[in-house]
Amino acid sequence: MSKKIVVIGGGIIGLCTAYYLQKEAHEVIIVDQSNCASGASYVNAGLITPSHIISLAAPGIITKGMKWMFNSSSPFYVKPRLNYDFLQWTWLFKKSATQQKVTRSIPVIRDINLLSRKLYEEMKADKGFNFFHQHRGLLMLYATDKGGEEEWKVGKKAIECGLKVNHLSQEELQELEPRVNSKVKGAVHYLSDAHMTPNEFMQQMKTYLLHKGVVFKTETEVLDFTLQSNSIQSIQTTQGEIYADQVVIAAGAWTQNLVKKLQVNIPIQAGKGYRIDVKNETEISIPSILIEAKVAVTPMKSFTRFAGTMEIGGINHRINPKRVAAIAKAAEKYYSNLKISTEEKELAQCGLRPCSPDGLPFIGRVSGYKNLTVAAGHAMMGWSLGPATGKLVTQIISNQKTSMDIAPFAVERFS
Ligand SMILES: Cc1cc2nc3c(=O)[nH]c(=O)nc-3n(C[C@H](O)[C@H](O)[C@H](O)COP(=O)(O)OP(=O)(O)OC[C@H]3O[C@@H](n4cnc5c(N)ncnc54)[C@H](O)[C@@H]3O)c2cc1C
Repeated sequence: MSKKIVVIGGGIIGLCTAYYLQKEAHEVIIVDQSNCASGASYVNAGLITPSHIISLAAPGIITKGMKWMFNSSSPFYVKPRLNYDFLQWTWLFKKSATQQKVTRSIPVIRDINLLSRKLYEEMKADKGFNFFHQHRGLLMLYATDKGGEEEWKVGKKAIECGLKVNHLSQEELQELEPRVNSKVKGAVHYLSDAHMTPNEFMQQMKTYLLHKGVVFKTETEVLDFTLQSNSIQSIQTTQGEIYADQVVIAAGAWTQNLVKKLQVNIPIQAGKGYRIDVKNETEISIPSILIEAKVAVTPMKSFTRFAGTMEIGGINHRINPKRVAAIAKAAEKYYSNLKISTEEKELAQCGLRPCSPDGLPFIGRVSGYKNLTVAAGHAMMGWSLGPATGKLVTQIISNQKTSMDIAPFAVERFS
């Protein structure tokens, strides 16, 4: 039966959710506090990453984080704060960073990534779209032997779980990607990965949804909810009240603050990252991650994007020029003849990854409410997982069998 569904958040998760909901003939309204173009979904590296089988909360990351904490240009930074949500999240993150939990998550992350990659391919084949999407894999470039050894261990795990991965010598890498600097010692090439141009896709998806009758309420912040017994009756916004049969909260890094109004606790911290776009031809043809510097490099449609850093420091969009400079410097070190101009660095933007403590997203219904579903907390994989999340949310709301087991994404797993 067709329902009136309000989706809060017009990032990749909200738009993909609307896409599958309208296909099931539901009436969909997307509400976003901005013009829908300010979220993480516009600044990301556009990588579709079945390769990212190891979640951020992995053993060793705490020690590394402590070392990096006092370095203003480090790729990972946690700003200590006396704030309950932050302290609780840090505690849960530490508890999740065990070998056992990481191993348990590997097939889950692989399966949802492969599902999503397939769904992007299906969208690509849809006549309503004409977006840039290439499947050339992802090169994990290493400049140190230690980096190479660590990455190849992950590569072997990925092979064990069915992904195609090659370990490339320096010569093989040079042949495949001649722009890589000779200081780079080799690469682990994950053939499973694809890449896109996020802004282009987001724009096409908005146009598509508008054409299909989805309503966009932009510059409209959701402030609160009106309840009737154990249902949400309407949402209160800066532009008035909106009634809904079902509500989906896909508010990225803002989700925890929003669900608090419903007495629900979903631990999500914002992980700030930056992107620099280079318009001049870089001749880089395959996406890469510079593993020592933790910088992602993506050749997009008519430009190259360099993205990096993970700053757990609350919700704000302040740009730290030292971290932007560190991204540019690392990129220039790994690629020959690459020069990122001062102007390009000045035009850098940042976005907030919605980070869950265990690296898995929150997808599912909230107990205690008949009509509330949450889709958030995708951290470093939100771009990759947009379509799979949208599909799963639609199946949940339409009472259909889900395409995969959603138990690992349970919204109240930390309650
Ligand atoms: C530098 C960087 C590089 C990245 N690279 C990749 C990558 O290569 N591959 C990958 O898979 N992922 C990547 N990511 C992660 C990915 O971008 C995010 O996980 C994803 O964009 C999250 O999408 P979202 O829709 O949940 O959140 P967002 O895109 O942040 O959207 C949330 C929306 O909710 C709205 N909102 C919030 N609160 C309210 C409210 N109260 N009322 C109304 N609206 C509200 C906001 O305005 C916003 O538009 C990267 C992230 C960054 C920062």
